[in-house]
Amino acid sequence: MQPIDYEFDDDMDEEEPLSNTSLDGTYVCDNCGEEIVIPLDIAAGRDQEYVEDCPVCCSPSVIHVQIDNDGDVQVWAEAEQDRY
Ligand SMILES: [Zn+2]
Repeated sequence: MQPIDYEFDDDMDEEEPLSNTSLDGTYVCDNCGEEIVIPLDIAAGRDQEYVEDCPVCCSPSVIHVQIDNDGDVQVWAEAEQDRY
């Protein structure tokens, strides 16, 4: 019997673990309707919520990020409510 010779091909595209992958998400600005691309920080958790100013119209939006167990990312935005 001949031992099976495994070759590890470094040239192949390897699937990286999700935690090490940087992802982009997109949301549609509630104010101007533009689609905004944002980098996602997966290490920050599967449920994220933060305020970000739209780079197009400078209107603040509450960004929601959800990452499910399959690694599917959902991003959506809400208009920031007036608190004052
Ligand atoms: Zn906008």
